[in-house]
Amino acid sequence: MALNLPQISLSVSIRNSLLTSVFLLLAILAGVSVLATMRLSALQDAVESINRDRLPEIRALADLNVDVAHTHLVAIRAALSTAAEPRAAAEQELRRRTTEVDAKIARFKESIGDDAPMRMAFDQFVNKWDMYQKQQAVMLEPEVGANRDRLERVVNIETPPLFQAVVDAVEHGIRLADHRADSAINSATLDAQIFRWVLWSVNGVSIMIGLATLLFVIHDVSMPIFRITRSMEAIAKGELQTEIPYADHTNELGLMARALAVFRASLVENERLNAATRTLSELSEWLQSAKSEPELYQMISTVLGGLMPECTGALYIYADSRDVLEIAAEWNGSSTTRALHPDDCWSLRRGHVYIHGTSEVEFRCDHVHDGVNENYCCIPILAHGETVGLLHVEYNSTGQETEAEAKARFADRARLGLACAEHLSIAIANVKLREGLRDQSLRDALTGLNNRRYLIETARRELLRAARSRTPVSVVTLDIDHFKSFNDNHGHEAGDTVLRHIGEILKATFADGEMPCRLGGEEFVVLLPNCTIEEAALRAEELRARVEALNISYGDGMLPRVTISVGVAAYPEAGIDLPEILRVADGALYRAKQRGRNRVELASGGMVPPIDEMTSRAVATLDAIVARAETRPIAPADPESGARVA
Ligand code: GH3
Ligand code: MG
Ligand code: MG
Repeated sequence: MALNLPQISLSVSIRNSLLTSVFLLLAILAGVSVLATMRLSALQDAVESINRDRLPEIRALADLNVDVAHTHLVAIRAALSTAAEPRAAAEQELRRRTTEVDAKIARFKESIGDDAPMRMAFDQFVNKWDMYQKQQAVMLEPEVGANRDRLERVVNIETPPLFQAVVDAVEHGIRLADHRADSAINSATLDAQIFRWVLWSVNGVSIMIGLATLLFVIHDVSMPIFRITRSMEAIAKGELQTEIPYADHTNELGLMARALAVFRASLVENERLNAATRTLSELSEWLQSAKSEPELYQMISTVLGGLMPECTGALYIYADSRDVLEIAAEWNGSSTTRALHPDDCWSLRRGHVYIHGTSEVEFRCDHVHDGVNENYCCIPILAHGETVGLLHVEYNSTGQETEAEAKARFADRARLGLACAEHLSIAIANVKLREGLRDQSLRDALTGLNNRRYLIETARRELLRAARSRTPVSVVTLDIDHFKSFNDNHGHEAGDTVLRHIGEILKATFADGEMPCRLGGEEFVVLLPNCTIEEAALRAEELRARVEALNISYGDGMLPRVTISVGVAAYPEAGIDLPEILRVADGALYRAKQRGRNRVELASGGMVPPIDEMTSRAVATLDAIVARAETRPIAPADPESGARVA
């Protein structure tokens, strides 16, 4: 699996998100600090202005009010004093108080500054105060004091409204100062309220940003890392089917998940390779224990069928003629041919493995049917440096995989096929060697017939079987007549040629199951299971006639004809084991020699009439002999004269 570099890095997005959060929080903190400082200084200003401006104003106006009241009282006392001395004292106090009030008015006026509303209010007060002072002067006039009625009217009726107007003007100023202090306090209170809301909102926004960051970290960082880590743990425990999340993401998480997927794929591959290696070594062990080629091929088709369930396959082995390869094993339903010529396969023609379906330029082998399968491989099987066969493997896609996956899987199977081929070649070489050795130990090298050892082994088995099934077994022994002098006259090599030809006649006359053997020298034995002595005698006569008719070219000329003498005995009459039966058969053979050679003698004492030479040349088949024998029933031989009974 390829690792793509991410387009958006997770670390970048985490960093961006954290930086954004920190920046936002810092901005909010800075804003709040500035706002708090501003609002606090505004509040402080408000409090200070109330302390500095409004309270002294109120205090001064209240003081002025008291002084005005005192002045009014002193003025009334002076106006109502009839005696000169108290009046003078009162008038003096009045002047002092009036001076004080005027001084306070002057000071207050100065303290007002640019405060226009207060100045206007105070001007009204000064105006009223002036009017009141004029009335006060009227009240203190001596003529008014002299007239009690007039005084009473001035004091009680004319002056009080003017005095009240002065007091009202002062109180108006006080109310004005008071009102302005109230509104400053109200505005500060409102500001504080607003500021509290702003602070709460800022807190809310900060909490939201914090929560959003937390959510992001949990959702986009912690949770994915937790899930990927859990997958890692499961994979480490060997649960290789575990799902790996986030593999489709383009950030570091995706990178991590894909790296984990690659790691898992390599584990799966390792696991599979281990399993394949185990199976291969098991296969090898089994194959080494195969006793014969058919058993070996049976094992190969079972094991390879299981090892590569998605592949069909076949194993071809060269026929003895080496011009054609024949199918020896197949598995999972092979679609290839049963036999192929070496030229039909590119791997055999080119001498190395051929994998079809992977290159741009490639040609299909002739033994693979057109359009059946694109992905196949042919692997030559070599044993001792010689090609002994061909392993053919076809990959059948499941249909659920992509073309690339199918190619990868096929390449993998081809590798496995190569590994198998090595084991197969060793096993085939081994079994062939073993069979060769066994063949050598049981076969006669000169004639290719079975040897004495084989005869002894087989006879024991056949006689047991015959005993169980109560069927006869016949034994035919034969010896070449005057072979010593033949050798002497024509040489040992010519003698060997004769032996080989007689071997061929034996093979042609008797089937494999009838087991013709070379016992040694120029003596042969044929074991005929399930064959009566009479039937055996007919077969022996056929053989004798064939040998007699044999023409052998040797060198530039022809060798003289040879004849054989034959003895026939049968189980159970002649004996129950091979040595006994052979002894009896040899007795019959000896009798045949005695009676003139080139004849067949039965152990039972019977004799097979000879087929005349002309007829024996004309009639080569068993059927003909049988037909002839039927027309000439076997007559017992005369043991004394040895004369044939016609
Ligand atoms: P008879 O008719 O009585 O059998 O006479 P014979 O000369 O055949 O006598 P015998 O069977 O005793 O002779 C066996 C001869 O077979 C001796 C030997 O020269 C020859 N012989 C044995 N083994 C071989 C062999 O492997 N090759 C050749 N060329 N000759 C062999
Ligand atoms: Mg002999
Ligand atoms: Mg002989």
